[in-house]
This record gives sequence, structure tokens and C-alpha cells, in this order.
Amino acid sequence: MSTPTTDRPEPPIRAMLAPVTPLQQNCTIVWCTKTKKAAIIDPGGEVDRLVAGLKQHGLELEKIWITHGHLDHAGGTARLKELTGVPVEGPHPDDQFWIDQIPESAARYGMPDAQGFTPDRWLGDGDVVTLGETEFEVIHCPGHTPGHVVFFHREAGFAQVGDVLFKGSIGRTDFPKGNYDQLIDSITRKLWPLGEHVAFVPGHGPMSTFGAERKTNPFVADVIVGGASADEAGLAPEGVPKRYS
Ligand SMILES: [Zn+2]
Ligand SMILES: [Zn+2]
Repeated sequence: MSTPTTDRPEPPIRAMLAPVTPLQQNCTIVWCTKTKKAAIIDPGGEVDRLVAGLKQHGLELEKIWITHGHLDHAGGTARLKELTGVPVEGPHPDDQFWIDQIPESAARYGMPDAQGFTPDRWLGDGDVVTLGETEFEVIHCPGHTPGHVVFFHREAGFAQVGDVLFKGSIGRTDFPKGNYDQLIDSITRKLWPLGEHVAFVPGHGPMSTFGAERKTNPFVADVIVGGASADEAGLAPEGVPKRYS
């Protein structure tokens, strides 16, 4: 008798979703499997629950990463930093005006604990952020907000894309400094080249892959970008899908 072994090597990272706030934003805990050092991406709120989740999985928080300055993604950042002392990285400086509005929008949404903050490190296109013994690439993807960034782990084929892209939809662009064409450009020129196999966590709703969205997403499928309407392509049988903030 021998203990069964697996030849499959341990992946360099693992990720766990923890939807937070009334908007069910996909806060994501990612960690370096070798060192158990973790980053929390987009701690919109419910910070005590996130800290408990780290403990439960034996993880040590090393970084707080922010995709963009909206309340549901960044509202718990100041509190998490206060509790843990770890550095905040991201978003891109063009989202400062959104971060500054957090206390005001928090009052409107009944989340009085949310505060503004200044990141320890602003991020830009092509930056690299480290986590334990591994690293993520930063991709600046404006359109939903001007300073939105995406965190991409090339070896694992994994991306946290915030409110840029969703399974079957794209982010809202009707806010100040939102821009529809810029968003479509960010998705098709910056995300698609990363590979069809890439699995992504969106800011809201279920995960998907870039390849699946290139086939079926009524806003950014290849046939749509090529000029067909969603109707002609048969991609929106139930009407225009919800776009998230
Ligand atoms: Zn959102
Ligand atoms: Zn947003």
C-alpha cells in the first residue's frame, strides 16, 4: 500500500471570493501558496469578516490592492489598513476624485464606516506588484473609471478585473469621467491579448474566461466588435444585460 500522490504541482496562487457590501462586490483574497502571504483585492466593507477569513485559512495579510475608487470596492480600505498596517497599492491616480467622494457616497448608501484614504503606492500600466514569492502585473483599464486597474497573474492565467468586464456584461460608463469607447478599448486591446484561457473575477457576479466573453458577451464579443449588433448576433435574447457600478 502506498499513499496516492499527485504529480500536479501546487499552483503559484490561490484565490477565494468574499462578496461584501449590499452591492455584493466580489472582494477577493489571493495568496502565494508557497508563503501563505495574502492580498485582499477591493475590501469594500465587512472588514472584520475579511480579517477572520484570513485567520481561518492561516494566511498573513501582506498587501491591500484596489482596482478603482468606488465605494463598494474601496470603502473598507482605511479600516483594513488601520487594523493591519499593511500597504495599500492602487488604483491609478486618476481615481483620486472617486476616493475623495467615499465618505459622501457612504452616507447615501448607509455605510457610515467607509472612509477616504491615500494609497501607499499609486499604480500605472505595466507596474508589477509582489506578493510573497510571486507577482502580479498591473494593467490600466480606464473607461468605467479613469483610474481603474486590473491585477493579472500570468502563470496562473488569472485576473481580477473589477468593474471593467463581467460575465455577459461590461461596467457602467455613465459616471463622471466614464467613457464607453475607452472601456471597449481597454477590454479588447489590453485584456484580450492576455489570452482566451485567462479566468477572471469580475467586480460583481460569477467568474468567466476571456475566451467565453469573446464568444458570447453582447457588448464585446468578437462579432460585436466587428460591427454586428447584439440582435443580429443573437447574443442578447432577453434584452440589454445589467451593467454594474
Ligand atoms: Zn462595483
Ligand atoms: Zn465601480
